[in-house]
Parts: sequence; C-alpha cells; structure tokens
Amino acid sequence: MPLDVFASRVDALYQDPKTLLAGSFAATAAGTYVAVSDRSVALVVCIAAVALVNLVRFGCIFWYFHRRCDLKKRSEYAAWKRRYIVLAALHVALLCTLPTVVFAVTDDHASQLLSFSVAIGYLAGISGRNFACKELVIAQVAASAVPLSAAMIIGGGHYLAAIPLGLLPFFVGIVSIATRLRSLLSDLNASEQNSRHIATRFDAALNNMPIGLLMFDPNGRLLVANHRTHEILGTRLESGMNAQTAVASSRPSIKATRSDVSHLAALFAARMKRMPSGPLFTETLNDVALKIAFQAMNDGGTVVLVEDITEQRKAEHVIERLATFDSLTNLPNRAHFLREFERVLTNKVGETHALLFVDLDDFKRVNDTLGHAVGDELLRIVADRLRNVVGGGGFVSRLGGDEFVILLQSIGQLSEASAIASRTINIIDIPVDISGHKLSVGASIGISIVPRDGKEAGEILQKADLALYSAKKKGRGKFVFFEAEMEVAAHARAALEADLKSALANEEFSLVFQPQYQLATGAITAFEALIRWRHPQRGWIPPATFIPVAEEIGLISEIGEWVLAQACAEARNWPDHIGIAVNVSPVQFDRSDVVGAVKRVLMNTGLTSTRLDLEITESALMQRGEHTTAILRYLREQGIKIVLDDFGTGYSSLSYLDQFPIDKLKIDRSFVQRIETDARSRVLLRGVTNMCADLGLRVVVEGVETTTQLQSIIEDTTVHEIQGYLFSRPLDPAQARVLIKAEPRQNVAQVRRNRVAAC
Ligand code: C2E
Ligand code: CA
Ligand code: CA
Repeated sequence: MPLDVFASRVDALYQDPKTLLAGSFAATAAGTYVAVSDRSVALVVCIAAVALVNLVRFGCIFWYFHRRCDLKKRSEYAAWKRRYIVLAALHVALLCTLPTVVFAVTDDHASQLLSFSVAIGYLAGISGRNFACKELVIAQVAASAVPLSAAMIIGGGHYLAAIPLGLLPFFVGIVSIATRLRSLLSDLNASEQNSRHIATRFDAALNNMPIGLLMFDPNGRLLVANHRTHEILGTRLESGMNAQTAVASSRPSIKATRSDVSHLAALFAARMKRMPSGPLFTETLNDVALKIAFQAMNDGGTVVLVEDITEQRKAEHVIERLATFDSLTNLPNRAHFLREFERVLTNKVGETHALLFVDLDDFKRVNDTLGHAVGDELLRIVADRLRNVVGGGGFVSRLGGDEFVILLQSIGQLSEASAIASRTINIIDIPVDISGHKLSVGASIGISIVPRDGKEAGEILQKADLALYSAKKKGRGKFVFFEAEMEVAAHARAALEADLKSALANEEFSLVFQPQYQLATGAITAFEALIRWRHPQRGWIPPATFIPVAEEIGLISEIGEWVLAQACAEARNWPDHIGIAVNVSPVQFDRSDVVGAVKRVLMNTGLTSTRLDLEITESALMQRGEHTTAILRYLREQGIKIVLDDFGTGYSSLSYLDQFPIDKLKIDRSFVQRIETDARSRVLLRGVTNMCADLGLRVVVEGVETTTQLQSIIEDTTVHEIQGYLFSRPLDPAQARVLIKAEPRQNVAQVRRNRVAAC
C-alpha cells in the first residue's frame, strides 16, 4: 500500500471523534445509571476506567493531529495505528466488562439488559466505524468477546445459549461486514484513483492541445474551455456562459467593432444550432486568423474547436502572391494581368482600351555581357519607371523576360495611348548606373486597341505583339499601332517558318557560286557560296528573306553547317589555288559549335583549311565581342581566312580593325554604288584601302556592276580582289566548273584593255 494511502487510513482512524464521544457518553451514562441503582463499587470503578481510557484516547487524538505534519515515515504511522488499536481494544474490553460486572453483582434484569445492550450497541457500530482497519476490528471483537461471554456464563441458564446463538454470529457478522465494507472501500479507492488518473490525463491533453476547445451542453451553456482557448481569445471564459456571452467577452482581442462582435456572436450561435454548418473565420486585433469549427455531440451539446490559422494564412498569402506577382519586379505577372484584362473586357464592354506591349531593346546583350544580377537590377529599374509613367492610370505587368504590358482602360482618344507610349520610351531611354556600369537600353512598343483590334484578351495581346514586332523592325525606340497587314505578314512568316523547317530534309536548298577575281591578274581566286531555296509552291525565295527567319528560329546552325559541307565538297572539284568563301551567320557563333562544324567538314571533305574563307558581318563582330573573337582567332590559327563582310553598312569604324582577327575586308556593294557619283565615297574608299594595306589586310570589293565602278576602283584604290555582276552572276556548280576551265582571266584583262584604249 502506498504511503499516502496508508497515511490516509491512519488519518481515518483518528478522524471524527464525535462517534467516539457519543459511544463513550452512552456507555458511561448507562453504566452510571446501573451503578447508582445497584450501588456497586465495582461498577463505578469499571465506569471510571472506561472514562479514563476515553480521556487517554481523546488526548491521543489531539496529540496525533498536533504531530501529523511531522510524520514522514510509514513506521511512524504504523506506531500511531498500533496505539489507536490498543486503546480502542482496551476501551471495548472495559465497556464489555460492564455487563460482566452487572451480571456478577445483580440479578436485576433491567440493569443486565441495559448494560448488555449498551455494549452490543457500541459493538454494532464497529463494522461501520472501523471496517477500514482489519486489525482494529479483530482486536475489538476479540476484546469484547471474552467479557461478554463471561457475562453470559455468569448469567447461566438460558444466557448460556446466547453465546453460540447470539454472540458468535454477531461477532462473525461484524467481522464479515467489516471485511466486505473494506473490500468495497478498496474497490472504490481504486476506481476513484483511476478516475483521478483519467481526469488528470484528459486535463493534460485538453490543456496541451494546440487548438482551443470549448464544450457546450445541450442548452448552450459552456462546460469546459481549455487553456489554449483562453490564450487565443485573451480572456477567461467561465463555465455556464452561453455562446453569445463567450464571444462578447472575447471582444477586446477580436478584431471587430461591437456590432461586428454581435454579428459574429449571432453567427456563432447559429452554427451551434447547425444553421448553417461549416466553420467560421475571423481575425483578432493582433492579426491572428482564427478558424472556428463546430462539432455536434450525441447528447445534443456542441464541441467548438478554435484554431489559430495565422501561419497557414500567411503561407497562403505568400503562395497567392507568388502566383500573381512577379517576384523580381513586384509587378503583376502574366496570369494576374490576363485575369485583370478579362475582367476589364467583361465589365467595360463598348469602351476603348489600349494595350501597350513594351519590349526592351538590347536587354539580352546586357544580360549576356554584364551578367544576370545587372540584368535583374535593370528590370527592376524599368519596372519602377513604368509604374511612374503610368501612375494610377493604367495596369502595368511583367509578362516575362524583358516584356512588359501596360493596360490603359477607358481611354478617350488614341492619342492618350501614343502619349503614354512615347513617355515610356523616353523614360526607359534615360541611362542608368548599375554597379558602376552606365547602361542605356531603349524600348519598343506595340499597341493594340479594344474593341478596334479585337475583343478577346489573347487576340489583343497577340496583335500588340505583332505591332511590337513591326516596331522592332522599324528600328529601336519606336512605338507602332497594330494594322491588319501585320497579321497577314505574320501569317506569311509563320508559313515560311513552317516550310523552312522541312526545307533541308526535303532537299529544297542548293548552292550557287559567285567568282572573285584578283584585280591585278584577272585570275579567279575564290568563289563565294550563296544559298538558294526553291520552294515547292512559291519558287525561288531569296536568302535575304529566309536567312533572318532561320536565324530567329535557330535553324541557321543546321543550314549553315549544310552550306559549309556542300561548299567545301564542291571546292574539292576545283584546282587547289581556288578558294571557297562561306557566309557564317552571327547567330551560329552564339548557338552552335562553329569550330566543331568547321573541323568536321574539313575532315569529311578533305579540303585544305587555307582554301576556306569565312565571311562574317561587321555588325556581328562588333556586337559579340570576346566570345566570337576568340573563336575567329582559333580558326585563323588553323589557316582559315576570316573576312569582314558588308563593310560600310554598319559601324565602319576603322579604329578597331586591328583589334579583330581578320584577314580580309569586303567592301559592300552599297559603297561601290556611291563611288560612281559621290567623290567623298571615292576618297573614303581610298582611305580604307590604304589603311588596310598598312594593316596587312587584303581588300575585296563586291557588287561591282559597271565598268565605271571598276575603273574608279582600279584608279583610286589598292583593292586586291573583286566580285560582282560585271564579271559573273552567282553560278550553279556545273557553270562554275565550266568557268574555271574557260580561261577566266579574260574578263578583267578585257576591262583593263578598254581603259587603256580610252586613255
Ligand atoms: P552577301 O554575303 O553580301 O552576299 C552577296 C550578295 O550580293 C549575294 O546575294 C549576291 O548574289 C549579291 N551580288 C553579288 N554581286 C552583285 C552585284 O554586282 N550586284 C548586286 N545587286 N548584287 C550582287 P544573295 O545571294 O541574294 O545573298 C544575299 C545575302 O544572303 C548575302 O549577302 C548573305 O548575307 C546571305 N546569304 C546568302 N547565302 C548565305 C549562306 O549560305 N549563309 C548565310 N549565313 N547567309 C547567306
Ligand atoms: Ca558574303
Ligand atoms: Ca556582303
């Protein structure tokens, strides 16, 4: 038995001295009465002894409670228990000696009955009073059995029969009742302890729940509210409160006015009655979001669960924000823009809206050359500028990359869209300083108008995109309104793209070769390979039409390698001193392995690398810088000659010529056309050729169509090679072979002769 239970049992013995008092008073009174009526000294002594023992017992009780706090050990309690048992047994023994003495000193039946019944009456209470202590019951029964049996023996006669028939069953009864009661008590104790454990566990579980729990009885009165509820609501809810009072008492912490609280209380009460079912959502003053769920119980009561869903809400907000806003610029993203645009189109039917599709010029270059961090910062700045331009008058969104849109709702006139477009272009044009880099990117804008250009978001966006494409083609920093022809052109282009993708596989491409002559001797030095596309329906399509498309859709690498392979293979049929010039698109340097392709082709065809010229445009070289330069340098080291094509159409800066790994400069035909009429161009051409001579670069002039042009070139410059319709148009492979065989020097020699004759 645990010490605390043992201690409580000992406590129980000493508690309630009232019954003891009553019992001893009754016994003393009865004994005194008999003693007085029988004038027996023995009885008086006996009563005095009973009274004395009682006195000692009361003293003991008093002393026990006085020392109770100091008792710690089981042995100390055991000593007090023993003390109690000895005194109680002594008390009972003396009490039961009373009838023994009465039977001995008198024959008065009344006195005998009185003393006997007082003893029996006192004994009857033992099982009820002391059943918890088995030893006490047995000690008391034993202490009473001897004197009572003695009384019966002294009484003699019929009294003797009372011993087996009365006293024995009586004592057995007392012991068995006490035993039974004791076992009941211990069962009760066990179940009480069990209940206490369950209650403690339940309490711990309830109060450690992460969610608040309230339990209402069928009448809507609060039975239980756990700690979490008090924490969440910032108030203590008292049992017995009804739902409305509970909500109202939480008002200071719930983010609501008094009327809101009444409303919430009404909703709360309605949900308690399951009208309607489903949770309630509210927010507290310190921005805690709550979900309040209601669960009916079988007895008609309700369990209310109050959950703090603030973190969940925050996570939802973050997800929602990520889904609707661009994290880099904080502008609405494409999905958000489309939703907003649809909303405007549905709600403002019949009104005029403008959609401005803004695309940065040259953003890719910034990203490629200065890195993504600078690119990102630039986009953020552009986004801020767009916000400033538009203010509250439009909806700005980032569609992705360097593409933005501005939606101007309910505009009066198209000029409003033009004004915003030109302001946007101007503001984006202002240079920015990012990490020490002074950058200036421009913007091009395509504009489409609702309802003129369409009524559906996707269609209008697509038309603004077409207008943008057209703006880009016009040169940077322009805005263009959508026109129907753009769509036609776009369709044609889409068709072209589709056809282009299958052209290589369908063997629709072929090469022609245009000869280049040495000016001094008139000998053919090389042929330039030029691609041709015979479209099955549309016939010949010029390279100027499809090459830019192939570049844009990334097909140029494949086509380029095909050209290189075909051209080199054809050149193998020519004498070794005749070279082959192949055009290489700048895009090939960005997107494919030019070095790998060249190596492969040279190996497969067996062409000597010194016979191959690669023509690359001036602008391509200027824009691409380091990467391209490194490739060209490597190719040059392999013996391949690098030709700067179209010189005079782009930057035409002479200052950088020595910085690039080039062998030849090819002067563009537009330049040649001017020398006939424009003296300045002639001077310029002379300057260029002189400088090239100084730098050790060879000069080729292309597009020579007339003898006058040729004469100027011969007279004024130190050009080495020459190419143009005057000598030969591009030829198919068979024609080119015929030309090589047919003494080609004559052409140039003839012109020279004519010139001498003219002089
Ligand atoms: P390009 O590289 O400047 O090629 C010279 C262009 O000028 C050729 O036009 C040629 O036929 C033309 N031409 C030559 N002599 C004269 C002349 O005296 N007068 C006139 N008016 N034109 C002359 P084509 O073949 O139409 O090629 C146009 C452009 O297409 C080429 O210009 C080149 O940039 C591109 N291209 C052609 N073939 C290829 C190729 O295989 N790969 C790449 N990447 N581009 C190519
Ligand atoms: Ca060329
Ligand atoms: Ca050219």
